[in-house]
Amino acid sequence: MKYIIFTDMDGTLIDHDTYSYKEAEDALQLIKKNNIPLIFCTSKTRKEIETFCNKMEVNHPFISENGGAIYIPINYFAAEYDYDIEYEGYNVIELGTRYNILRNVLKDIQNALETEIVGFGDLDATQISQLTGLDIKSAENASVREYDEAFTIKIQDEQNIDVNQIIDIITSKITSSGLTYTKGGRFWHIMGDNDKGKAVAILTDIYQKELGNVKTIGLGDSLNDLPMLHSVDIPILVQKPTGSHDPEITDPSINYIDGIGPVGWNKAITNILIKDR
Ligand SMILES: [Mg+2]
Repeated sequence: MKYIIFTDMDGTLIDHDTYSYKEAEDALQLIKKNNIPLIFCTSKTRKEIETFCNKMEVNHPFISENGGAIYIPINYFAAEYDYDIEYEGYNVIELGTRYNILRNVLKDIQNALETEIVGFGDLDATQISQLTGLDIKSAENASVREYDEAFTIKIQDEQNIDVNQIIDIITSKITSSGLTYTKGGRFWHIMGDNDKGKAVAILTDIYQKELGNVKTIGLGDSLNDLPMLHSVDIPILVQKPTGSHDPEITDPSINYIDGIGPVGWNKAITNILIKDR
């Protein structure tokens, strides 16, 4: 069986708090040994993903910023496929809306509301580092955004406002601007008409051209992973740091695996690959 693995990173392959993938090391070794493409499909930026690719010696295409773009190393595929631009050693398939447009819409929404919306574009690397627990270098990489803005909604306690009502207003304004939103483990995201699922489907098609029949595995932990999980043959949901699965995802077609983040990841992949031998 030719497997392709699509995986979320934060809270799934890498620990939500420590950003470590140590707990998934056994499965990662199995993947390398079996030459299985490991495709990062994450809200992370290109530069953040590249750092992990270098560290983990992963040289496959990847999907950045919630399906904003697919980066395919030039000469990776022999098969022909359509792409939009050639950039820094990649053929790039652009699916998202440019960052400066997203920033402008978010600013307009903030101006119309009393509530403060804080995006990465409002912060320097030190502030992003404090907010995320990333080191400064990683925070710098996270701030180089191309197709997605991450933001938080600041509601003061004394404002005595219904949080859900504010969220409803913000999200409906995003939608009426022709854009979309999603919620990751830590931040809200505003973006174009892209999601992880569309990007996974496009890349799967290219792999099928190249390799013939493939079986796709997808792993995630949050709502923004749902389109990806719906685009793969074997969808897997790992547990949140709370020790349970995302309560917003209830879908009997998904495999709910025991284990938080990389622990569940390791268990799920090991089960599939060892059973398959
Ligand atoms: Mg996640």
